[in-house]
Amino acid sequence: MGCLKEKIKVAGFLENSLVNGDGIRSVLFVSGCTHNCEECHNKAMQSREYGELVGLDNVYERIMRNYPLINGVTFSGGEPFENSDALYKLARKIKNNSDMNIWCYTGYKYEELMNSDKSEWKELLKSIDVLIDGKFIREFKDESLRYRGSKNQRIINVQKSIVSNRIIKLDI
Ligand code: SF4
Repeated sequence: MGCLKEKIKVAGFLENSLVNGDGIRSVLFVSGCTHNCEECHNKAMQSREYGELVGLDNVYERIMRNYPLINGVTFSGGEPFENSDALYKLARKIKNNSDMNIWCYTGYKYEELMNSDKSEWKELLKSIDVLIDGKFIREFKDESLRYRGSKNQRIINVQKSIVSNRIIKLDI
């Protein structure tokens, strides 16, 4: 894959984080989310106006500057699947040029994404390794959980789930 011409609204970026997935990871927060979870932890990022419009190739280069210190990239937000047309291209370019894995947070459920007729949702799903799915639900909040905020959220091994046509959670 060559140059990525698209731009994306970047709400935040962490060069190397230990708490947004397994290992040391760069984390890209994208703007825009319509889920409106009660007690949303990133309220400002719900707006598509928030953040800075950045070329995808610039985001890619910023990520790659941290490689190989980092072993993966996490997409968060905001709602990555509301930016899926750009993110699946970024994910593919990262995977084509490194051995990094991609984790992704979403307020949608795996089944909604898989059964959708939005091709860009499927493309993004196919390009990621681990999906933390579902809205943040206050009643199920549990601060002892790793990598997720509420018990309803699942940590899904996407590639194994696609192949076996059923949800396989990550053993973590
Ligand atoms: S999915 Fe995340 S960013 Fe969107 S409203 Fe819920 S907690 Fe906030």
